[in-house]
Amino acid sequence: MFKIILSLLILSLISCTNKDSNIQINKVFASVETEPVESPGDSADDPCIWVHPSDPSLSWIIGTDKDETSAGLRVYDLGGVEIFKTENGKMNNVDIRYGFELGGEIIDIVTAGERLSNTLAIFKVDPEKRTLMDIAAGQVSLGIKVYGSCMYKNINTNEIYAIVNDKNGNVEQYLLVDNGQGLVNATLVRTLKLSSQLEGCVADDILGNLYIGEEEKGIWKFGANPDDGDNGVLVDELGTHLTADVEGLTLYYSGDSTGYLLASSQGNNTYAIYKREGDNQYIGQFSIADGKVIDGVTDTDGIDVCNLNLGSQFPNGFFVAQDGVNDVGNQSFKVVPWENIAISFKPPLKMNNTWNCRQY
Ligand code: CA
Ligand code: CA
Ligand code: CA
Ligand code: CA
Repeated sequence: MFKIILSLLILSLISCTNKDSNIQINKVFASVETEPVESPGDSADDPCIWVHPSDPSLSWIIGTDKDETSAGLRVYDLGGVEIFKTENGKMNNVDIRYGFELGGEIIDIVTAGERLSNTLAIFKVDPEKRTLMDIAAGQVSLGIKVYGSCMYKNINTNEIYAIVNDKNGNVEQYLLVDNGQGLVNATLVRTLKLSSQLEGCVADDILGNLYIGEEEKGIWKFGANPDDGDNGVLVDELGTHLTADVEGLTLYYSGDSTGYLLASSQGNNTYAIYKREGDNQYIGQFSIADGKVIDGVTDTDGIDVCNLNLGSQFPNGFFVAQDGVNDVGNQSFKVVPWENIAISFKPPLKMNNTWNCRQY
């Protein structure tokens, strides 16, 4: 009897090991890296992609630098050259939405959580001057010690929200409002409470979902609207596909209701991919390996992805990831053409689609 139990135990141990080692990790390579951030140590955190309204090749990568002394947002062109920066505090995560109405003008709006003063930084994109303009109505104070942040746009009402979270599992959702004087304020409309440290988050504007990473637990899905209640579903738990911390989350839209949810699995330097629709079925995993010119990516915090043709360098859009260790200089962001990722899977992931984030 003991022998049978022992052999059953050994068998189950072997199958666990097999299960883990059976996860295929596709290797892809970056084609561009941004200039390193100015600050040493763990300073870069989260990128977002801004799509230019008429010439997609003039689009940007906006990154955060969270160093205490010289922090702010960093704006890079698609060659990775820094073309603008703000110096307004310890910016942790950054996100963007299109079509905010401010004083009768339609603008592209960027928000970031500022960790020294616990405020929400709010900017508008100036496509002509190629700068970010501060449009926060003074100090837009938050009720929690802000850590992660992201944005949501309800496409039926055109309301745009900033969602912030903290290291104790608290989430606050703010409606962004025109204050009538050319500036933007934020009104608290909802709170959520999870168990432990949060950070990465992303909202699906079309399907109305809000995904939040609980760093040592997994990925949660909530309704993204303020009256959607506080019942979350655990999309995936740490273990098979995700190794702590769960960090950046982003969505690839391949149409109104299809695409992919991507997650940074920081602890094993990979990215997990799930279906955007339905129950977010797991698809697979990839890593960004050392290339001939550009080093690979480890210890990733924030990520973003865009499906659009962004010029000859990126005809199928690209994925961008913070790199925890740069081979030369301070941390940077690495850029991978989407087709490199798409064709590494069998069958290939969707690409070359025309779904346009600016249309909403
Ligand atoms: Ca974190
Ligand atoms: Ca982070
Ligand atoms: Ca690296
Ligand atoms: Ca490098």
